[in-house]
Amino acid sequence: MTVAIEATELYRFYRAGEEETRALRGVSVRVHAGELVAVVGPSGSGKSTLLACLAGLDEPDGGQVRVGGVRLSHRPERERAAIRARGIGMLLQSDNLLPHLTVAGNVDLVQHLTGRVDRSYRDRLLDELGLAARAGTPATRLSGGEAARAGLAVALAAEPVVLLADEPTGELDDATELRVLDLLRERARGGLAVVVVSHSPSVAGIAERRIELVDGRVTGD
Ligand code: ADP
Repeated sequence: MTVAIEATELYRFYRAGEEETRALRGVSVRVHAGELVAVVGPSGSGKSTLLACLAGLDEPDGGQVRVGGVRLSHRPERERAAIRARGIGMLLQSDNLLPHLTVAGNVDLVQHLTGRVDRSYRDRLLDELGLAARAGTPATRLSGGEAARAGLAVALAAEPVVLLADEPTGELDDATELRVLDLLRERARGGLAVVVVSHSPSVAGIAERRIELVDGRVTGD
């Protein structure tokens, strides 16, 4: 199986004056194409820090991250941004959409930024997510469920090899949550590597693998 994203011995310390928080203490994680992995653990255990390091939004103090075989960590932000844009989709609880753009406009924007403009992929994506009829609707006029699916469309706009999601279903009702999780599972079947940080039992339920963090260490995989 192809390794989509790999973290090796990640360390991340936050210092504030005399205080030092060890958010990650030697975390190694390898996720293959087609895997759907849930990252679980108590609040403060390092889940968001791990996700930020995997995305190249944060730099680990030790260890490294590779995406599709390319080193992402320990590079200038500009290079990390380029690697992230090509390989990684991010799905956040909210704020995945620019409100004044339409659904299609949001997807187009990401494609433009990543230099991967593909209208037929966009249309298939919106169709697959049940948003074909909403393509021309401004993001502000979407229902909660539609906005969640449109957020996923944005995350998948550049055909990433990895999707990183932080509590993507945190604000959704149960029916919408299941729909989004179904879509994530379908995408994983299609070869996408999906890493989801979540407290939701439904997310842990559909994941075939769970990585448990406690105090910045992997305590279960
Ligand atoms: P989780 O996502 O599991 O709740 P986090 O990764 O957010 O955990 O946080 C892990 C630890 O690192 C916590 O103790 C948190 O307070 C600390 N932390 C996270 N981000 C920062 C930061 N930017 N500055 C200082 N401490 C931080």
